[in-house]
Amino acid sequence: MSVAYKNLMEDIALQNVERVMKASGGCCCDDCKSDVLAYALNHLPPHYVATRQGLLMVKLQSYALQFHADVVAALSEASELIAKNPRHRRD
Ligand SMILES: [Zn+2]
Repeated sequence: MSVAYKNLMEDIALQNVERVMKASGGCCCDDCKSDVLAYALNHLPPHYVATRQGLLMVKLQSYALQFHADVVAALSEASELIAKNPRHRRD
């Protein structure tokens, strides 16, 4: 038996993270990106769906419309926080 599921909020966050981070003017390296995504996803309600082929893209598109503003708001907050306090040294 195998189960397949995923958190759609993760996909929506991934689609928007770079744009939001660039807009906030902070560092956009992979370390900071991971921190921003982890912070934002901890502050967003998860939306898990079963990943049956075909259905997923349809669901993702409708959820992306519905939750876009929430995801971007959480990403903005996270970007500003991480930009001020990156875990690595600023060069
Ligand atoms: Zn960085």
